[in-house]
Amino acid sequence: MTLTRRKFIQIGGAAAGGAVLASGLTTRWWGLDADRVEDPGTEGDRVVASYCELCFWGCGVKAHVKDGRVTKVVGNPDHPLSRGMLCPRGAGATGLLYDPDRLRRPLVRTQKRGEDVFEEVSWDAALNRVGEGLLEVKRRHGPEAVALFTHGSGGTWFKHFMKAWGSPNVGAPSYAQCRGPREAGYLLTYGTPLGSPEPIDLANARVITLIGSHLGENMHNTQVQELAEAIGRGAELVVVDPRFSVAASKARYWLPIKPGTDIALLLAWMNVILEEKAYDAEYLARHAVGLEELRAHVADRTPEWAYPITGIRPELIRDSARLIASARPASLVHPGRHTTWYGDDTQRARAMAILSALLGSWGRRGGYVSHAKLSLPPYPVAAKAPHSDKAAADRPKSGGYPVATEVIASGLCDATVSGQALYDLKAWIVYGCNLLQALPDRRQTVKALEGLDFVVSIDVLPAEICGWSDVVLPEATYLERDDDVAAPAYKRPFLALRQEAVPPLHDSKPGWWIAKELAGRVGLAEHFPWKDAREYVDARLRAGGHDVARARETGVVLGAEVATCEEDGLAVAIPTESGKIQLRSDELARLGFDPLPQYYPHEEPPPGQFRLLMGRAPTHTFGRTVNNRLLAEPYPENEVWVNADVAQALPGFAGPLEDGERVFLVNQDGARSGPVRAKVTQRIRGDCVYLVHGWGQKAKRLGYANGRGASDSELVTRYAVDPIMGGTGMSVNFVRLERAERAA
Ligand code: SF4
Repeated sequence: MTLTRRKFIQIGGAAAGGAVLASGLTTRWWGLDADRVEDPGTEGDRVVASYCELCFWGCGVKAHVKDGRVTKVVGNPDHPLSRGMLCPRGAGATGLLYDPDRLRRPLVRTQKRGEDVFEEVSWDAALNRVGEGLLEVKRRHGPEAVALFTHGSGGTWFKHFMKAWGSPNVGAPSYAQCRGPREAGYLLTYGTPLGSPEPIDLANARVITLIGSHLGENMHNTQVQELAEAIGRGAELVVVDPRFSVAASKARYWLPIKPGTDIALLLAWMNVILEEKAYDAEYLARHAVGLEELRAHVADRTPEWAYPITGIRPELIRDSARLIASARPASLVHPGRHTTWYGDDTQRARAMAILSALLGSWGRRGGYVSHAKLSLPPYPVAAKAPHSDKAAADRPKSGGYPVATEVIASGLCDATVSGQALYDLKAWIVYGCNLLQALPDRRQTVKALEGLDFVVSIDVLPAEICGWSDVVLPEATYLERDDDVAAPAYKRPFLALRQEAVPPLHDSKPGWWIAKELAGRVGLAEHFPWKDAREYVDARLRAGGHDVARARETGVVLGAEVATCEEDGLAVAIPTESGKIQLRSDELARLGFDPLPQYYPHEEPPPGQFRLLMGRAPTHTFGRTVNNRLLAEPYPENEVWVNADVAQALPGFAGPLEDGERVFLVNQDGARSGPVRAKVTQRIRGDCVYLVHGWGQKAKRLGYANGRGASDSELVTRYAVDPIMGGTGMSVNFVRLERAERAA
């Protein structure tokens, strides 16, 4: 089946009017009336191939430039991740480039930290100030006292700076606040974390099971395209979600599960599949250990057992389990991405991984497949400075959590507050992540920021974190800069180039330039020997034997398709210690954790309160896009989803809550959101409410987004730490609703 643009729009756009566009956005044609708007044409355009940074998926783009302005951004048909199509955010990139609120010149703080009062200074003055601040911290506390928080491909240059500087304290909220538990769960089961793009074969799956994942609203372009293709040729969906998501609307089974009980459902599914001998016995005999322990473990975890826990009727659990098993091995249990929910998230990921093993889908077409990378040697430079204390260098990664594979960003924040000798952090470099919204418990983040000796932010927009910095350095958008080559593992291995389409606006500078200049001021110039990013990238491409001129023209270097699964003749790879899939995890047993996932009940919301759940809209990437006026057209602000029956008689409300009415959300600790419109709907259970993340910004320089909508982050004053890998489960907060006009 050929994927038509209309079909793609149906998958991605139903919730918010978003659309995945085959051509670029220029004015007011956001999918809602896309077919009626004339394409502006491309005659005389200069076209620059690059890759997108409106989120971190990295789709290939072609930027059209006319009279020195980027007029539209379209998908690069040669790029394996975009395949000629962009999601709404990618197509709306000019909304970021020409955002009137962009940081324009370097800023140095003149009042108390957090008061957001700055003066504009020259780059020289700003970089000198940063250099002095960092060197002072190094002199007094050592290089490890500096931490970098980063998100996105542009962070490469600052990670390199940190290696040269000699601090291992480099954290990204994308791990412990997002995909970390999933990485740990699959690592424990299959011996490898999944990484990004996830090595899954949506395109060939015949049944796709989404557990709390709302793919389509969570817009990872390639996966949404493949999901649309799969549905188009008859694949069935099983969607487990307390909310009737867009994906649920396409599903054979929507299981509106009680939040926090997914592990019980997974155990019951395994019970059915094992009881009915619907698993892949031959595959398991070849590849797995622990089947009999698993069988005994789930023997009494029947659908009848799970019903009162999950709220899903036994026959529905049985029927959905049978559908899932019927398509094996092309039955894909999607691993999800944002997986930090309740603090037992690694165990839930383990349960999903074990279920996938019962289906024989690891290493099989339509399941989990193998990806490969193209050769790209590093630039020849001695980048790594010796850490002053090797042990300290290694410790941040685990942070006391034995299966952590990356640094725990929230751990760096906590350590800053506690002043633990382990980190003893005194300075933060923050690249492109608004820590006030990215980390749980804003009070803790503020406390950390107040206690630091020095904070510098590098950003495109004046996010709230900038107001808490001593120096703010304005970065050019991805359309105005070169960056490192993207070299992800993929089923068709490729390299992608980021290339400047137009020179940086205002007095902004590319990240590579900022890092290099900073290195020069702290005695590390020899670690940045290249003239510019282009020279650096070309050297790497040449060293890998790639055609530089062609890469610059097309924006991509394509490798040959590789064998990805057993059906292609590739042996199933399981790099665990035993070389087998660990249905029972010996490693977890050794560490004192349950070797097989157990269901433990979670605290439930008291009467009159609701569990706060968060998610994504196809038009937005957390807070990074909420000030984008183009993206505001289809999705101007978030809404709180409230069950329609519950809305009839909310405590403290005289009369029903009306759809569109504004309310405040107040959590169990008294934290209060800004006023937010209620979406009163039958599409969500009555024991929870739901917000799209990223809104409710408190950044006075964000002319559009400041104060608009409600911030879920502000309401996450408590979290449950996953003891296995350190993730912060954030769906453990409860809120009540107050009518806006009655609020104090
Ligand atoms: Fe850009 Fe969308 Fe691709 Fe993300 S998914 S890189 S925002 S086009």
